[in-house]
Amino acid sequence: MFELPFKPPVQPLHHPLYEAHGVKVFIQREDYFHPFISGNKWRKLKYVFRDLVATQKKHAVSFGGAYSNHLVALACAGAMYGIKTTAFVRGEEVYNAVLNLCKWYGMQLHFVSREAYRDKRALYQTVANDETYFIDEGGKGDLAVLGCEEILEDVSDVTHVLCAVGTGTTLSGIAKAAQLKNITAEGICVLKGAEVMDDEVATMAGYQVHIHHQFHVGGYAKTTPEYLHFIQQYAAQTGILFDQVYTGKMLWAVHHLIESGYYENGSKLLLIHSGGLLGMMSLFHSASNKTLQ
Ligand SMILES: *Cc1c(COP(=O)(O)O)cnc(C)c1O
Repeated sequence: MFELPFKPPVQPLHHPLYEAHGVKVFIQREDYFHPFISGNKWRKLKYVFRDLVATQKKHAVSFGGAYSNHLVALACAGAMYGIKTTAFVRGEEVYNAVLNLCKWYGMQLHFVSREAYRDKRALYQTVANDETYFIDEGGKGDLAVLGCEEILEDVSDVTHVLCAVGTGTTLSGIAKAAQLKNITAEGICVLKGAEVMDDEVATMAGYQVHIHHQFHVGGYAKTTPEYLHFIQQYAAQTGILFDQVYTGKMLWAVHHLIESGYYENGSKLLLIHSGGLLGMMSLFHSASNKTLQ
């Protein structure tokens, strides 16, 4: 179960800036797997679902915010494999495309205050029985790291691999696999003031992995007109969508890092497109979006 439908394609990305600095850039299209269990969410859920089935559970319980890509992925995966799903959603009751899609896939939603949300085990206990299975926020955990190690399965012949960092699970898996292949793994943190992530990833990956903390563009899901213009232009020129919450910040970081001469001439970078395109719906709903003129 949860075998990948196909190997993710790897494509070159071209830009005069990359060429001027002698840096080659490639992108691994993990966003191609599935529209809603996209990219790293597929990788993160694979062994979790195998464990869930192996332990004869029938009901997955998890946690997330109102725009959680993880919850949609879980809701869809639950529907695919006949597993009931329940989510505790942080904050007031709201409905948006993401949460409605979760419901469409049959997920039960419970909205809880930010305070109550902090104690996930206590929330879990309110629905726990012999058939339930706890999945942490964002799917994070050892089994998710294991799944993410497979992102590098067919990768060779690059000097660096980069990905966006939310919980750091994806980076940790990538970093473990990268170490064995002598590839430098780096993360781009999409949260502001999340330097603790360095220690968390070091624990999960087993060594200190470099995380860039200066490309969050103001914080989680925050944007600026200049940043939105950048990812919009990229889409218009290449046909590749980078969402504003995660992968766009990775692309933005890579652009600035190459510009500043961070990568030596001759470097070969592999960016991981971790999916998350559903997150763009919030952008297109916003009436004040001046970048789409
Ligand atoms: C969830 C998500 C991430 C964050 O992954 P972590 O393993 O939590 O660091 C990155 N990119 C996309 C597109 C996501 O949906």
